[in-house]
Formats: sequence, C-alpha cells, structure tokens
Amino acid sequence: MGTGFEISDGLNLAFALATSIICLTSVFFTFAQKRTDKLRNKVFVGMLMVLTLNGITELAKTSIDVYGTKDGIDGGAYKAFTFLYFAFHSMLAPLFYLYVLGVCGKLSFADRRSGWMFDRSRSGRLKENPVDFGKPVHIIYAAVFAVTELAVLTNPLTGFVYTFGEHGEFMRSKGEIIIYLAAGLFLVTAVYMLIYTWSALTEKRRYMIVYLFVLVSVGILIQLFTVHVKIELFIEALAMLGVMVSIENEDDRIDSDTGIYDRKALNSDLMTYLKGGRSVDIMALRITNSEEIERTCSTEDDLPILVFDFLKTKLPRSYIYSTGPYTYVIALPDIAETDALWLMDEITARFKEPWSLNDTPLMIKAVILHAKMPEKFSTVEQAFIMIDSPVPSGNTKTVLTGSDLDYILRRKEVEKAIIRGLEQHTLEVFYQPTYSLEGLRLHGAEALIRLHDTEMGELYPGEFIPIAEQCGLIDDVDDFVLREVCAFIKSGIPAQHGINCINVNLSVVQFMQPGFVAHISGIVEEFGVDKSSINLEITESVAATDYKLLQTTVCELREQGFSFSMDDFGTGYSNLQSIFSLDFDVIKIDKSMLWSADNAGSGRIILENSVNMIKQMRREILVEGVETAEQIELLNTLDVDYMQGFYFSRPVPKDAFIRIITDEDTPGKGE
Ligand code: C2E
Ligand code: CA
Ligand code: CA
Repeated sequence: MGTGFEISDGLNLAFALATSIICLTSVFFTFAQKRTDKLRNKVFVGMLMVLTLNGITELAKTSIDVYGTKDGIDGGAYKAFTFLYFAFHSMLAPLFYLYVLGVCGKLSFADRRSGWMFDRSRSGRLKENPVDFGKPVHIIYAAVFAVTELAVLTNPLTGFVYTFGEHGEFMRSKGEIIIYLAAGLFLVTAVYMLIYTWSALTEKRRYMIVYLFVLVSVGILIQLFTVHVKIELFIEALAMLGVMVSIENEDDRIDSDTGIYDRKALNSDLMTYLKGGRSVDIMALRITNSEEIERTCSTEDDLPILVFDFLKTKLPRSYIYSTGPYTYVIALPDIAETDALWLMDEITARFKEPWSLNDTPLMIKAVILHAKMPEKFSTVEQAFIMIDSPVPSGNTKTVLTGSDLDYILRRKEVEKAIIRGLEQHTLEVFYQPTYSLEGLRLHGAEALIRLHDTEMGELYPGEFIPIAEQCGLIDDVDDFVLREVCAFIKSGIPAQHGINCINVNLSVVQFMQPGFVAHISGIVEEFGVDKSSINLEITESVAATDYKLLQTTVCELREQGFSFSMDDFGTGYSNLQSIFSLDFDVIKIDKSMLWSADNAGSGRIILENSVNMIKQMRREILVEGVETAEQIELLNTLDVDYMQGFYFSRPVPKDAFIRIITDEDTPGKGE
C-alpha cells in the first residue's frame, strides 16, 4: 500500500543504504587488514555481517514501504524480509556480549586447562579452543539466546513477536518484550564486564567505549521519540565503525617495520588477562648469539621476520610479541602444561637446525625463559623484569623455568640495593695498589667499587655493575667513584707517597653517551684536580658499529689530559685491532692469561708473545692477578712494566690503603 512519499521514507531509505554501505566497507576493510585471527576479531566480523544483512533487509523493506504495495508478491517479500531482519537482529546483542568478553580478555569459554587445542598430527600448530559451553553461566546465556531465536524463527507460525495487519502493515506483538529483555540482559552484563575490567583497559579504549555508549544511547532515545524514522541500525553501524577504527585497529600495537606486536601490546594484554582472572604462560625467547650474527651476516635486519615467520607456523600471530631486537615473547592464556611443553620443545628443536637468511646459512642460538603467571610472577612488572633480564652467563640450558628463574628476583633485589647504595651512601671505593716490576716499587692504584648493603650484605661489582649498566644506574655509580677518587687526589695524600695517578674503571655503556667528555671533564675540573692524575680503564667490548665513536671519545679525552688503560686484554675478541687504533697508554693483561701461563706450555707461549707484540706497539704493560712469588719470577723474564694482585694487596678501604702507602718504605709485600 503505497502511501505517497514522505520525508521519513526518504530518511529511512538513506539510513538503510548508509548502514549497508558502512557495514560492507567495514567488512572489506577488516579482511583487507587481516584483522581476523583472534576469536574476538571473528566475533567482530560476525557482528558486522549481521548488521550488513540487517541493513540490506531494511533497505528492501523500506523500498517496498515506499514504492510497492503490501499485497501479493510485494506483501510476501515484505514478510520474508521482516522475518530475516528479526532473525539476524536478535543475534546482535549476544554477539556484542561475546565481543565485550573478548575486549575484557575473557573470551575463553573453555575451562582453565583446555583453552587450547592443537593438531599435532596435521599442522603441528596450536589453535585457540573453539567456544565450549561447559560453564553453567554460559549455559544460561546460551539458553536465553536460544529461546529468543526460537521465538523469532517460529514467528511466522505463532505471531508471538510480531504480526501483520489486514493491509500487510507491521504490528508488534506481546512477545517482542522478550526480545528486548534478552538484549537488555546481554547489554547490562557487557557493561558490567567493562566496568569490572576498566582499570586494565587502555586509555584509547576507555574513551572510545564511553563515546560509543553515548552514541548508542542517543540513538535509542531518538528512536523512542521518532517512531517513523528508523535510525537505530544506522547508529549501530556508526558505532561499529568507531569500534573498528579504535579497538580493532592495532596499528599502535604493532611494530610498523616487522608487523609484530610490540611491548605496549604485551603489557596491555597481560594486564587484561590477569584482570580477567586467567593464568598465562609467558615464554621469552632470547637470541643469545646476536653479536656473532651481526658480525657474520650483513642482512641481520631480516632476522626478526625470519624467526617470527617460524613462530607463526606454531601458533597464531596474535600471541607473539617482540619486546626488543633479539627477544620474542609468547603469552598464552589458559594453556595446559603439556601443550606449553610441547610448544617449547618444537621451538627449541628448530633452533638446533641451521636457518637461511637470504641464502646465507646461519645458526641462531636461543634460550626460552618460561614462567607462569600469576604463580611465578604475580605482576606484569615482574614479568617484564624476566623478559628484559639477560640470560645468566654460563647458562647451558635451552629452557629456563621454575627455580631457574630465581636469579631474576635476585637481580631485582640487587637493583634496589644499588639505589639504596646511592641514597644511603653504602657504596664505598676501595683501592688496590699497583707496583713496578723494576724494584717492586709502589706505582699507582686502581679504584674498585664495593657495596655494603644493609639488607643483602656485601655485594661485589662483578654482580652489580652489569645490573647497574642494564638499569641505567651505572652513570651514577661511576660518577660517585670518580668524585671519590678526585677528592682523594685533591687531599694530596697519594702524591705525598709517590702515587701520581689513580685508575678509574668506566663502563663502556656510559662511555658511548653523548656529552660524556664534557661531563667527565666537568667533574674533574670541579675538584680542581689535574686530569693527568686520572687514568681511565675501559674494556674494549663494543660492537664494531660504535667503534668510530669510541675512537673519537678516547681522542677527545686524551686531548683533555686523561690517560687510558685497556682493561682485560686477552678476554675479548677484537682487542688487537683496538690496541693499534686506540691510543692506550697501558694494556692490562687479564689475570686469566697469567694464570694459564703458570706451568710452561701453550699458555706461556701466548703470554710471552702477547707481551712482545704489545711492546712492539710501544705500550706499557700491567699484569693483573699476581698472587704468588712464582708468578713474579715468571714476569721477570718478560718485558712487563707493572703488576697488580693479591700477592701485594687485595683492594682495601681508603684508610687501609693510606696505611699501605705510608708503610711502603719496605716494598714488595703487603698483607
Ligand atoms: P677489573 O677492572 O678487571 O678489576 C680487577 C678485579 O680483579 C677486581 O675485582 C679485583 O679485586 C680483582 N683482583 C685483583 N687482583 C687479584 C688477584 O690477585 N686475584 C684475584 N682472584 N682477583 C684479583 P672486583 O673489585 O670484584 O671488580 C670486578 C670488576 O668490576 C672489575 O674488573 C671492573 O670491571 C668492575 N668494576 C669495579 N669497580 C668498578 C667501577 O667503579 N666502575 C665500573 N664501571 N666497573 C667497576
Ligand atoms: Ca679495571
Ligand atoms: Ca681486569
């Protein structure tokens, strides 16, 4: 029954058309962006499809309203479209509820032990478990959905939800209230879930959710008061568009170069899982031979993708993250122990085989740090400590798990101790004297840091310096040492006893920072101490790419008046090159080299030849780790200049050191 064209008809046609177009575009975009891998993404696509079908049926209905009659074929079609409209539209609220569960990290209907299934036989790949309606609460929701859907599907027979009048016009029936009540139940639960997880949601999601909530509420209000204008679907389509560009959009969670989820994504996902009361297995995969890889292959930029592509064959990409250049993290909620073990076995097995990077064969060494949350680490912060902490040196395992990870907790404690040390002045500089080989005369001293922690007791630099380097506290520690040494030199005591120079250790991490030259000169000038009275010790272990910077920094500091020692000669791999090109005054031969020369053999030959070679380069030589008179005898046969070691003195506090140098008229032996 065409009733003439009214404004509301035009609007309704436009709304229905716009709804269909918006939804189709969104579906297309979602697939084009490949945002379909998570269960949550699939639910979103489901909602879009339902809404698209609704838009199309609405368009057809409105067209018949405006241009057709409601009798005969038109009438039949009108009824059919109405039926389809209801059949689909009643799915929207339940789908929305599922979607919100996904946003809140709860879209796992499986019980805790079986969130995953996998195909060992076919693809050998982990897959998310499909929805499993095992839990009582889900049975209730499923039942509500089934009842409403049944009411709608049987409506042509019962007329329970709606009927058609004499002239084929649409009329609501009492049963429609059930549909609304059911939708209300789903929506209220969804809102409750959102409020419950609010603190775990990112800011962007929160804003978007509030905005959408307002938008939809306004839409419903308008719909209530303007019965003839059918705006509801259109508003829903707009809301979906909003969800798509914000919540479904993962651009700000993905590294744009590699396409891998980043640190931020991992952080927010872990928060969401924990907030949702789920347990998570974290596997941090660390590549441990990165330096070797960088030295041997020029295309290491492609490495992240190479490993990522492999991981993707084992599990969906949305559970794989990369938090740094050589670290991948897999975070799997609700995974069974056996499945987790299987996955780690598969991964470690792959790393026993060679890889091929642009046709270059390559061995990649990797270690997995595996921990369960919340059992092992109850906070996301602790999880990140594990993810960021280095694999302990000397580790031979490929998987570190359980009590293997206790070092991480110790690490955190040490970090706190360093901070306490800086605040409470429990850091102390010890001094170890050095001697000339000729006449065993006192020559100088090396400043070595100690930490007397109130809680952990005595801590040694071998443990806490690497930690200070990693957590950015090394600058403060080294500044403290330099200041102490400057103050000591300024006191004039060392000079009175013939010590004209004190050695200070510098971390290469700090050395490479911009403004370092000015910084360090500034400190020394502040004390009014002569720069030539400070010898800076550095260990040449920097990556080759930073070599130029190292060279310029050394040059600039030399111009300022500082002298340099190369520490730990004989332990690194590119030392030889450095002695040539970097201007060191003294080369300190590492104690390991002396010790392996103790009994005549290859160790001795290496030591002898190293000494000869360094001498030919016209550098002075200090040998560390001298503990016995026999070692001094051995060194006497070589062209060595200075010695340092427990034979003379251990590193001692300043006062004890002053006593040693004061007594030094009887040279040779400290205690
Ligand atoms: P290093 O620079 O090679 O220092 C020499 C280390 O050998 C010191 O260990 C010293 O106590 C030890 N040593 C000296 N003579 C002998 C000996 O005859 N036998 C044995 N077994 N050991 C001997 P320490 O003090 O524990 O320092 C360890 C490392 O920590 C140092 O190695 C250095 O790399 C670093 N370090 C120490 N103080 C500082 C500092 O103030 N700043 C920085 N950045 N690093 C520091
Ligand atoms: Ca040193
Ligand atoms: Ca050394």
